[in-house]
Amino acid sequence: MTQHLPRHFLTPRPPAFSRWTADFMKAVQCAGQGDSTGAERFISRIDGLAIAYWYHLTAQNAAGERIALLTEFTDTPAPARETVMAREQTRMPNATERIEILKREHWRCWYCGSPLLSKVEFYKLQGIVGPETLPFGKTNLTTHGAKFLHMATFDHVRPHNRGGLADRSNIVASCYACNFGKYRYTMEELGLENTPDGLSRYGELRSWTKAVSALRN
Ligand SMILES: [Zn+2]
Repeated sequence: MTQHLPRHFLTPRPPAFSRWTADFMKAVQCAGQGDSTGAERFISRIDGLAIAYWYHLTAQNAAGERIALLTEFTDTPAPARETVMAREQTRMPNATERIEILKREHWRCWYCGSPLLSKVEFYKLQGIVGPETLPFGKTNLTTHGAKFLHMATFDHVRPHNRGGLADRSNIVASCYACNFGKYRYTMEELGLENTPDGLSRYGELRSWTKAVSALRN
């Protein structure tokens, strides 16, 4: 019965998002070529507030919604709450390891394929287009939504407190939407494809990796 839910994708995205992702990639390309006007123009075409609302109301709660659907439509029991809530010290990759993981993933989210910048490049982009165009506020809704789709976080595919290894065979680059949306559940519990093989599940997009390199240098 799990065929009711897509197995490769945690959170469905509104169709306009693909256009905004293309605009984001073009903005990064312009920024890397020193064209700040072009970068600003492409970022301005993105409805950052619409994405921020989607993240705030839908994407970051995706796991709970998905578990509820799976529990309703299949015989799968919901994971025990205490298992999910257990907290443990999680070892996260250092700066060098983060860049190595991003390179391995071709600068894309391992879960959804969204193009990613590291935090350093994201702030660099903000410096180029200005904080009015690309604001980072104290709350989700005062932050430009591009952050939730295109700033890299790092996630244990099998959660650390569920026996997942704290090494690069289990840690992947992820967008905010997939990382926080997945929460502390395993891929199996979420009815998702589980292939943490240490290699990117998406191919290289030459134009994107080139744009990232240009912005980094
Ligand atoms: Zn993602």
